[in-house]
Amino acid sequence: MRSSSKYEEQLSTFSKNSRVVLVTGGAGFIGSHTVLVLLEQGYQVVVLDNLSNGSYEALTRVEKLVGKRLSFVKGDVRDQSLVTSIINKYKISDVLHFAGLKAVAESTLNPLQYYSVNIEGSLALLQAMVENSVKRFIFSSSATVYGENAKIPYREDSSRGTPSSPYGKSKAAVEQILEDLAQADDSWQICCLRYFNPIGAHNSGLIGEDPEGVPNNLLPYISHVAAGRYSKLNIFGGDYKTPDGTCRRDYVHVMDLAEGHVAALQNLVAGFDVINLGTGVPVSVREMVAAYEAVCGKEIAFEIAPQRAGDLPEFWSDCAKAKQKLSWEAVRSLKEMVEDTWQWQTKNPLGYHNEE
Ligand code: NAD
Ligand code: UDP
Repeated sequence: MRSSSKYEEQLSTFSKNSRVVLVTGGAGFIGSHTVLVLLEQGYQVVVLDNLSNGSYEALTRVEKLVGKRLSFVKGDVRDQSLVTSIINKYKISDVLHFAGLKAVAESTLNPLQYYSVNIEGSLALLQAMVENSVKRFIFSSSATVYGENAKIPYREDSSRGTPSSPYGKSKAAVEQILEDLAQADDSWQICCLRYFNPIGAHNSGLIGEDPEGVPNNLLPYISHVAAGRYSKLNIFGGDYKTPDGTCRRDYVHVMDLAEGHVAALQNLVAGFDVINLGTGVPVSVREMVAAYEAVCGKEIAFEIAPQRAGDLPEFWSDCAKAKQKLSWEAVRSLKEMVEDTWQWQTKNPLGYHNEE
């Protein structure tokens, strides 16, 4: 087992009978919130993360919040022998695979890096699982796999489309690999969770989204404008065929998503499945700006900028399948999503770097 001197591997005192879940990318935004819920629910957790966009501090805070320990291994998910050693050492029973790269624009500039991390990483992980007969797998997929022409709201029974970016294509490719794997071997239990737009933070304000560099996503960017770090928001496009001319998305609270993962784990069955995790409610960029202003009590300066390449005018989720198969639905309101985002921003103006 490798771990850097700074990020010492932490061994927890595992109780003997509960399941041990390997969470790749568990130091990232969605992964860290999911780890928290897993620990709360009594699962034992091993995180594998190379910290390229995650923070060890997030995991330390998760442990403090829950009052339980987890195990951490710093490493690359593409390192199959490392994954094998983790599976053996910790007797992993289930895998939640968050590790990956997610910036759409960056993926168009550096497709090989995206295909390598997102596809090779998944292959190495799956091969290590096969070697060790671990066959319960939950994959972080995305609404982007529906492609450009899918009917709105997106339903899981519509076919996978052709996403425009290498990022989206990498997610669709991994879904296809997983589908083929389950077809070839019916002892696999695989669920792809297609996230819509995850935002928000844990309501303690201790863990949240901490992107490296200038944020690509809307909420972190608005937060930085509200905090005075940037002077204004560029709204990408004001002339879409939507009610107010700006794009509409289905924003979902990261804690709802985290709970959705545990529901998926508890309801994992043989075969391959895909399930949307969203709210089913579209919100425009202008509506989001207004919601943020109401919460933070400040004006968010913005300018209408040209449309961003690859952005679709609007899409949202049909949520019936998650409700039926997982007994899960998003319960947190847009106001809570924004309040929790703002609390995270004000308590951690520099993200996890505050304490470094
Ligand atoms: P994130 O960047 O915060 O988390 C990803 C984690 O994976 C980070 O901690 C990073 O350090 C780690 N990682 C990256 N490459 C790795 C590698 N080669 N080996 C080991 N660890 C590695 O992103 P997130 O928002 O938490 O997203 C988690 C997953 O969900 C990703 O696969 C992403 O594509 C997917 N997803 C995210 C969104 C979104 O809008 N946030 C939407 C749909 C799908
Ligand atoms: N957006 C924007 N300005 C920004 C970032 C995003 O207007 O600085 C818009 C973007 O065009 C999209 C919505 O906000 O319509 C959500 O974008 P984000 O990148 O957060 O998620 P996406 O839906 O692209 O995955």
